[in-house]
Amino acid sequence: MSMSRRNFLKTTLGVGIGAGMLGLGASLLPTMAAHAALSTREMYVFGTLVNLGAEGDAAQAQQALNEIEQRFLLMNRDWHAWKAGELSTLNAALAEGRSMAVSNELAVMLRGARDAAQASGDLFNPALGKLITLWDFQSDVQQRSAPPAAEEIAALCASAPRMSDVHIDTLDDGRQVVSSRNPNVRIDLGGYAKGVALDWALDHLAAEGLHNAVVNLGGNLAIAGQRDGRPWHIGVRHPQGEGVIAAIDAQGREAVVTSGTYERFREWDGQRYPHIIDPRSGQPATHVVSATVIHADAAWADAAATALVVAGAQGWREVAARMGVSQVMVIDAEGGVGMTAAIAPRVTFVGARPARVEVV
Ligand code: AMP
Ligand code: MG
Repeated sequence: MSMSRRNFLKTTLGVGIGAGMLGLGASLLPTMAAHAALSTREMYVFGTLVNLGAEGDAAQAQQALNEIEQRFLLMNRDWHAWKAGELSTLNAALAEGRSMAVSNELAVMLRGARDAAQASGDLFNPALGKLITLWDFQSDVQQRSAPPAAEEIAALCASAPRMSDVHIDTLDDGRQVVSSRNPNVRIDLGGYAKGVALDWALDHLAAEGLHNAVVNLGGNLAIAGQRDGRPWHIGVRHPQGEGVIAAIDAQGREAVVTSGTYERFREWDGQRYPHIIDPRSGQPATHVVSATVIHADAAWADAAATALVVAGAQGWREVAARMGVSQVMVIDAEGGVGMTAAIAPRVTFVGARPARVEVV
């Protein structure tokens, strides 16, 4: 096993971090030995492993990482689609046809999610929480049960819950009031909230004067600046099996977000049902097993990656163009890789080169 590969495997999901993360880089990658100290933090939140790292004054960095940890725990509670918190309270109100005043943070997030949904042609559709519930994906553990009845799926699809059903109004007194004209809207921000959290964390670190930093939310990763004067070295997880399929260097302010159908799924009768749902059919998306997006805005990248998995091997280029994401890598169920011309020069395959690589 190569050194970089060992280092990548330190993280369990999606994208790992090479060169210096967790203080191991110096011994693992002698050619990329890191001298600038990295303050780190590891926690479990958003149903996944979270790694934070920041260069700079250690006391200041630790203080900022503490604040991020506290904020992430609150975000996880407030934006959870089904556990008690602000979003689940809103969902209960919308299901009963009531409007509800929400926090500014949630209003901002809902507007952002609505814009992304519109840009994606509703393939990214966070209003489909009822379908997620129906498929029983609202659990942090893998499910093993039969898929829902076709009639139930068809009934929900026919009512077509989407973000354009949701109104977010600013009242004269400044309150943000949310309502829905479709009682089947149930907002699930699982495909978006991690990106918002990534943006928030890097903004917070920058405001504290920490401009060289990394935030990894279970393989969804955002970086700022550099690591010890060099680009951050990022690994994209192989969608089949352990390890890394590709390495990408990143610097400045960039997010590398991967949506994968390997992450969470249910199994029944030898069949896998991944947790990303195609809102058109109500069925799990299975053609694209992994979509990676590099973009300055992590929230947008998160929404786009989810939309590209739904769009599938034929449709992803058009959806990427519609959403204005130019750096995309998609892996289909047969292991074929599709890439945009803008990402191709940045991707280094690790291990065996995929059988089919197409740059478009
Ligand atoms: P991600 O890992 O960002 O692709 O997010 C996957 C999560 O987003 C799922 O676990 C669901 O909670 C939710 N989700 C599933 N399908 C969709 C979809 N088509 N649009 C928006 N969110 C979805
Ligand atoms: Mg997403």
